[in-house]
Amino acid sequence: MTASNAASLPMPGLIKRAAGAENVGLGMVPRPKAGPDEVVIEVYATGICGTDLHIQDDEFPSLPPVVMGHEVTGRVVEAGPGAETWLGKRVSLETYFYTCDRCHACLAGRRNLCPSRRSIGSHVNGGFATHVKVPQRNLHEVHPSVGEHAGALYEPLSCVAQCLCDPAVASPGDTALVIGPGAMGILSAQVLRAQGAIVTISGAPTDQLRLDIATSLGLTAVLAGDLAGVTPEGGFDVVADASGNERGIDAGLRAVRKGGHYVQVGLAGKPITLDIDLICLRELVVTSGFASTPRSWHRVEKLIAAGQVVLDPLVTDVAPLSQWQTSFGRTRKADGLKLMLDPRMDGRA
Ligand SMILES: [Zn+2]
Ligand SMILES: [Zn+2]
Repeated sequence: MTASNAASLPMPGLIKRAAGAENVGLGMVPRPKAGPDEVVIEVYATGICGTDLHIQDDEFPSLPPVVMGHEVTGRVVEAGPGAETWLGKRVSLETYFYTCDRCHACLAGRRNLCPSRRSIGSHVNGGFATHVKVPQRNLHEVHPSVGEHAGALYEPLSCVAQCLCDPAVASPGDTALVIGPGAMGILSAQVLRAQGAIVTISGAPTDQLRLDIATSLGLTAVLAGDLAGVTPEGGFDVVADASGNERGIDAGLRAVRKGGHYVQVGLAGKPITLDIDLICLRELVVTSGFASTPRSWHRVEKLIAAGQVVLDPLVTDVAPLSQWQTSFGRTRKADGLKLMLDPRMDGRA
């Protein structure tokens, strides 16, 4: 089959059809075709992320109709002029389909903050489909040690690295607490450990599977209710919230020591109420990060190559596109850890 024939074929995709909560469903869209410096990827897996739920709920900006999904891994099956060297390679991808490359943010290497940014999965067609098209500059080859589904976790790990690295938020010997043992939390805990911190991760009683996975990775996992018993005198040097939950964030701001460092990793998706005086009275350093940058991706490549962060144990469930509703619903209930959709499974059914 030639590329042009392939491009004329429709393919299934999970589409945000219109603005408004819900308005999400499976449909057929044209299979993309690679232009100059672009590639088409056969999708092996796309992770379901809190952001996808926020897009479903209309709590995160999107430009419908658009194929959702931004945590993507797969193989390059078509390369446009200038991108031929990527053909056949197993890749993960940065999410920005377009940035202006002229604004202050872009010129400072902060494409994640470009006001003209258009990302796959929210503004242009993303990875909940059999194929996705991206510029070749988005591509990163997946390390051979990473499984074919787990490659989709490069993207959330890059977001974590954007929050926690360059500069590192922890120094060797620091005590660190991560709140929320979802994928972002367990990735954050691994990155903080790589920075030399002694890491504790906390979760709710309903998070037992997630806490067990954290324990299997050598992390100290505790129930949030038991946190007082493991908190160092004066508090943790570093606290990272990966829950995006009002109660979790409140607990995090109270668990960090005076003059300590608090990092917001999770998104709440809506306004929440917090005692902001906790920051002033204790002179906390509060930082965050939004999405990822080429720098955070390069950090991730080094962390994975060094074996300092592992991805495969986080993938608990892989389902066909046709079962998206079940998988989205389970992600919403925090049932499982990282759930992914593999469009190749639909064809095999
Ligand atoms: Zn995500
Ligand atoms: Zn820009």
